[in-house]
Amino acid sequence: MLTIENVSVRYGRAVQALHDVSFEVADGEVVAVLGSNGAGKSTLLRAISATLALHGGTVTSGSVTLDGTRLDTLDPAAIVRRRLMQVPEGRQVFGRMTVEENLRVGGLAAEPRRREGAKARVHELFPVLADRSAQPAGLLSGGEQQMLAIGRALMCDPQVLLLDEPSLGLAPQLIQRIGQIVTEINAGGTAVVLVEQNAAMALKVSHRAVVLEVGRLALSGSSTELAASEDVQRLYLGGH
Ligand code: ATP
Repeated sequence: MLTIENVSVRYGRAVQALHDVSFEVADGEVVAVLGSNGAGKSTLLRAISATLALHGGTVTSGSVTLDGTRLDTLDPAAIVRRRLMQVPEGRQVFGRMTVEENLRVGGLAAEPRRREGAKARVHELFPVLADRSAQPAGLLSGGEQQMLAIGRALMCDPQVLLLDEPSLGLAPQLIQRIGQIVTEINAGGTAVVLVEQNAAMALKVSHRAVVLEVGRLALSGSSTELAASEDVQRLYLGGH
């Protein structure tokens, strides 16, 4: 179980990006994180994966624990060894490396026995990555690059996968495909924290959801409950 407890985050002195945020992600659960631009969604994922320092941020109070071990005091490599992986916003695949090489980099931190099984699973989930294995990743379409970024993270056979806006910039049918992929990944037992602008897709594929507003946890509940809430419909689902 992943536990985020009273987490506050600052960037420098001026910006407090998260205030006292708490929620849990049970083993094998999909939790969606919704909120407008600047609400703190990416910051929350960075706090969980201990990558805030790379962006000039710090956790000023609270804790993040995975199965009782504090993550916020570990370095990012130690977190990957605990099988918590983040797919950052904007994909960030290595464009000049081949698809195969990108996947190999993703598996570097994994134990060898996990790596082999993981690669077969990635090819099964994303046959296009097997077909285009020898091509430079930079030649893939936006959707394929997103699949590669997810596939690369899956090479560590993660217990927890953090996805930052996987549907950003993709055509509607691909957004639905990303949703199905989240469900398929979760069916293998991986817990997913899904940050999404596309609230309709996120609520459809998640068990529970939290809503951030200006750095604070404004709402949380089961995804069916939140999808029925008037506030969520008005603010995030385009209702009136
Ligand atoms: P978006 O959907 O636009 O990515 P978000 O909900 O992910 O938004 P964050 O990117 O976490 O929001 O930003 C939360 C707040 O922290 C914003 O006020 C933002 O300007 C600020 N912020 C984010 N990254 C940094 C940074 N590296 N340095 C300073 N301030 C930052």
